[in-house]
Amino acid sequence: MTGAIVDLSRESLPESFATEILIIGSGSSGATAARLLGEAGHEVVVLEEGRDLIGAERTQRDAAMYDQLYMDRGGRASHDLSISVLQGRVLGGGGVINTCDVVPIPEGVLNHWATKYQLEDFAPDKFEPFARGALEDLSASRIPEDLINVANAKLRQGAEGLGLRGEVMMHNRVSCRGLGTCLIGCPIHAKRNPRMVAIPKAIAAGARVLTRARAVKISKANQEVKEVEVRALDPRGYHEHGKFTIRAKIVIVAANAIGSAQLLLRSGVGNGHVGKNLILQPQLPIIGLFDERIAAFDGIPQAYAITEFEEEDNPEFGLWGYRIEAIMGTPGIVSTMLPFTGAPGMHGMAQYDRMAASLLLAPDRPSGQIEVARDRRLTIRYEQRPDHQQRLRDAAENAAKVYLEAGAREVLVPTVPAVFIRSAKEAKKAQEISFAPATAPMISAHQQGTVRFAASERDGGADLDGRVYGTKDIYVFDSSGYPTTASSHTMTPIISSSRMLTAKLLTRI
Ligand SMILES: Cc1cc2nc3c(=O)[nH]c(=O)nc-3n(C[C@H](O)[C@H](O)[C@H](O)COP(=O)(O)OP(=O)(O)OC[C@H]3O[C@@H](n4cnc5c(N)ncnc54)[C@H](O)[C@@H]3O)c2cc1C
Ligand code: SF4
Repeated sequence: MTGAIVDLSRESLPESFATEILIIGSGSSGATAARLLGEAGHEVVVLEEGRDLIGAERTQRDAAMYDQLYMDRGGRASHDLSISVLQGRVLGGGGVINTCDVVPIPEGVLNHWATKYQLEDFAPDKFEPFARGALEDLSASRIPEDLINVANAKLRQGAEGLGLRGEVMMHNRVSCRGLGTCLIGCPIHAKRNPRMVAIPKAIAAGARVLTRARAVKISKANQEVKEVEVRALDPRGYHEHGKFTIRAKIVIVAANAIGSAQLLLRSGVGNGHVGKNLILQPQLPIIGLFDERIAAFDGIPQAYAITEFEEEDNPEFGLWGYRIEAIMGTPGIVSTMLPFTGAPGMHGMAQYDRMAASLLLAPDRPSGQIEVARDRRLTIRYEQRPDHQQRLRDAAENAAKVYLEAGAREVLVPTVPAVFIRSAKEAKKAQEISFAPATAPMISAHQQGTVRFAASERDGGADLDGRVYGTKDIYVFDSSGYPTTASSHTMTPIISSSRMLTAKLLTRI
């Protein structure tokens, strides 16, 4: 069979049909599984509700790109609007719009999962080939010195001045020209992401990829042949305009930790653990304001991280503490994060080229839940815990000292009310951040949990093969299964674990 990408918003809808394996979601998890199953000779169909947006269509313009590349056009948020929940919605998923940081699951976390949660396949020696395979898929390499921009260099300079441990991160770019718009898609395809690696290989192996195709319901979950109701979407992905059914022996749900639980809940599939234990890993931005031009928008946004305060083998939580990573957003996103409007907002944005920003990234314990109402409305319920708030305050205090050490005039924590820090002595002001709902511009890019892997149905939503409890051959292969946060970044962990779960599936089919 010849593989292909078929855009259902432009082609006539297929009659209902059957396939051996149906994969829902074309991101790091789904694309990896599609490629490996296709290459092993299996019949594979992939459903993706986003479209294939490549090349010149990646216009580097905020409004159009958030509209077409992000879930809910970038407007998705937790129930009380405290956390902006960012996910990709495009062929290739989040890998298309992420910042390319390659951070594998640390050995401490793998040991934690293998011992505390009995996830024996994640024991470091057993998991190593899959982790290595992910690094190969990503063409992972250390970011070269000549691609470290001024903003990242400032963070590094401050960290080194204060004697803090840090590192230049690994990434999955090849021939990057430093255009700086990674968060709204790379127009020159420098990212070795699922769209550029696993999807072409899956298609070459015969997989059929349907875009603007949304899975809305799985039925006959306990039977040999499952049925998945699919709705086609219009070219911009706003409205559903037709439906059909795909029958499949094996269904792999790889729609992101939120989308996977959402689909299972909507279908009434799985046990009471489905939707629970959501991890959002909320991150808080902080901005160093300099007198000189920094031009953080020019070049790779996220290249240097301060790792001094991160623990990789906390006995209770695995990954814990916090890290401080340079970042920069496009004007659209930065202006929405500044806590000013009108003239103060204009004054803030007038300093755009003198900003060096960071994200404060603290792992959280599972603190949320996915809910789907009768009218299909999704709620992402999440309560930020006091220990998470405190680590972010401590991170803000230390990040402020780092920027001041590097020569910043002042440091802004963009909360309401805004916190300005002008000397190391004033850094303690970061302890005043209240984290009252919707007063801190937190973002989540690393959703995990929701269908936890567990050896027993009592403790989780899916077994150690990723099979959803109470079903016959319906699987979750994405970060839904993670019992605690895998890493400070989730793309590499997800490709590794999808590789591992696919290899296990291949021994049984
Ligand atoms: C802004 C941002 C920056 C990030 N930066 C980094 C980084 O630098 N390094 C890193 O390691 N990680 C990063 N991440 C996280 C990483 O990109 C994600 O964890 C990863 O892409 C998730 O892979 P996935 O396969 O689980 O889901 P996704 O990549 O989200 O793919 C799921 C796909 O399923 C589709 N879908 C959902 N529901 C349905 C349905 N019902 N029917 C059909 N299709 C459906 C979606 O449209 C989506 O394309 C970032 C994420 C974001 C949002
Ligand atoms: S910095 Fe520019 S060229 Fe490099 S990956 Fe990001 S968008 Fe592409």
